[in-house]
Amino acid sequence: MEKSFITGLKKYLETPKKIVILPHRNADGDALGSTLAWYHFLCQKGHEAVVISPNDYPDFLKWLPREDEILKQNQKPLEVQEKILNADLIFTLDFNALSRVQELTYLVRKAPGEKIMIDHHEAPESYASLQYSDPSMSSTCEMVYKVIQALDETAFNKEIASCLYTGIMTDTGSFRYSATTSETHLAISHLIRAGADGTEIHQKIYDSSSLNRLKLLGITLSNLQEIPDLPIVFMTLTQEELTSCNYQKGDTEGFVNYGLSLEGIVFSCILIENESEGKIKMSFRSQGTFSVNEFARTYFNGGGHHNAAGGMSMDSMETTIARFKTAVKEVADQFQ
Ligand code: 5GP
Ligand code: MN
Repeated sequence: MEKSFITGLKKYLETPKKIVILPHRNADGDALGSTLAWYHFLCQKGHEAVVISPNDYPDFLKWLPREDEILKQNQKPLEVQEKILNADLIFTLDFNALSRVQELTYLVRKAPGEKIMIDHHEAPESYASLQYSDPSMSSTCEMVYKVIQALDETAFNKEIASCLYTGIMTDTGSFRYSATTSETHLAISHLIRAGADGTEIHQKIYDSSSLNRLKLLGITLSNLQEIPDLPIVFMTLTQEELTSCNYQKGDTEGFVNYGLSLEGIVFSCILIENESEGKIKMSFRSQGTFSVNEFARTYFNGGGHHNAAGGMSMDSMETTIARFKTAVKEVADQFQ
């Protein structure tokens, strides 16, 4: 983290401010954990802060401390507009492009407040007047940990610690992905001492499946296909399959990772149909040198990280599968 980021931040936070904190659309553990931790910290310091989520997020995140205070754009659009336009500061956490707040992009772009980014995705846009961007970091939560540590190391309490633990845990696949460093473990150690209960948080996030979700996982795995002669697999879920298991937001979280648990497989993809939005949402995961970020950017209008990225297709499932197969052939030499 550059010193100038903390110096600039201190200046902005010298006097009480009206502050909006934004996670990306379809917030995950890291997006919600980091925005809520930052919210707790700012409230503690006497600022008038609010977290605004562009849309709803999975139920398994709804136990996070003060999650019920998050404003949801789709529920209170007028209040959201008022808050964004009147904010002195707008923090954008865990995303690198303003389009990731979708419904709110236009509003945020024209809002007069200073924009401040904290994020670990590759190739960030340059909309922020102050920016802490580091793609080598495990999670935005680890970055927020470092920021709070630099501003006031006595500020950590059980609420902040639980939020930050959650995001570091979910973005590192429980501390196993390659961005997990000794620094990450030191942060986790500190967060546990500050009150985060790792066992309880794991249970709340990972042991809260419905029977329907497990059935959906069964369908997904039985739909898994290999790409001949390449270390690549993909899975599909049609709207009909989702509906048959009473799909709820977040149910497919983590499914794509199962592809990588196959011996020798280094690239896994899942294609999930969303009939009402007329698109196929794609998730990509890799192990090692193959960049799914590049792949998502080049072929499916997406992006993300080196080993975890997402994208989408406006074509039918059939056409999207065909496009995926063509795309992987084009990058086949990277797997030799
Ligand atoms: P997921 O597959 O879990 O939706 O996303 C994996 C990673 O890629 C996350 O860090 C997410 O923020 C990012 N990501 C997912 N979809 C998109 C997209 O359409 N565009 C960009 N730029 N990033 C995405
Ligand atoms: Mn993240």
